Amino acid sequence: MKNRVKNIAYRMGILKILLLVQRLFLKAPLILMYHRLTAYNGNNISVDDFEQHLIFLKENCEIVTLDIAIRDVNKPSRGKLKVAITFDDGYEDFYHLAWPILKKHDVPATLFITTGFIDKSVWLWPDKIDYILKNSNGFTAQLDGFGELQFTQETTKEAWHRLGDYCLVKPWKQRDKLINQLAVSLGVELPQQPVQGYQGLTWSQLKEMSAEGLSIESHTVTHPILSTLNPLEIKEELSVSKQVIETNINQRVNIICYPNGFARDVSNTVEEQARACGYKYGVMACFDKQTANNPYRIGRTSAAKEISTLVIGLLRASK
Ligand SMILES: [Zn+2]
Repeated sequence: MKNRVKNIAYRMGILKILLLVQRLFLKAPLILMYHRLTAYNGNNISVDDFEQHLIFLKENCEIVTLDIAIRDVNKPSRGKLKVAITFDDGYEDFYHLAWPILKKHDVPATLFITTGFIDKSVWLWPDKIDYILKNSNGFTAQLDGFGELQFTQETTKEAWHRLGDYCLVKPWKQRDKLINQLAVSLGVELPQQPVQGYQGLTWSQLKEMSAEGLSIESHTVTHPILSTLNPLEIKEELSVSKQVIETNINQRVNIICYPNGFARDVSNTVEEQARACGYKYGVMACFDKQTANNPYRIGRTSAAKEISTLVIGLLRASK
């Protein structure tokens, strides 16, 4: 549906009526996936947008914990659609932007953290590209495999997307090599640890939020595409992150959120290792009806900025 049509349908209350009709049908809970909010309104989901989402969801759906959503994945029910809120990665701004709104509206949420990112020992690789492009001395780089990259100050974001899409499907060694080459070509020295704006939450912030009711689960140690790793490396990513969170937060970790989280990023070996490491569930970054009943491939729906698009997503939830 076109954005304009969706917005009109939303403003006329049609989408709310459809949600009311949906209550008559059997449907499984829906898990919403957020990443990072922005403080100001722009192209990405802002704090204001998020607050509107919560107000709408509280009025028209039943916001539940992720545990309840997962418990009921195979028990479709009538009535209000159950919705769980999740955030990925663990950027520092979650503490300042998302958590105060969640608290204000008394809404349960789960945060999936990349523990190496919290320990400040790793950058999330898309951030490395972002930092290099934004601090570059030039606008051309010759990159092995990728070819020539040309961009301007205005097309930095486009260049970031092109490089990101390319790196996404490459083994981590190749990806790291390309990122290093990019830094050298553009004359940027990448700091060893993530700098302000690219940093993760601290353990003390996480402990504080956990005590206030935030549920914290694993998103690996270094945010790799697990299906590209060997079984030993997969085990390390899954078990170390679980252990580190359990030690720091003193709370059991049962859920692994797979980085990138599409079907090709999760192999049978990844599922087996998740089970062997003691995880009870695995969540994806997409929704696939075919695998929704597999506890290690639980689907999520990406939250949209526009509330009308978000509601259309809710209406797609079905048995
Ligand atoms: Zn992630």
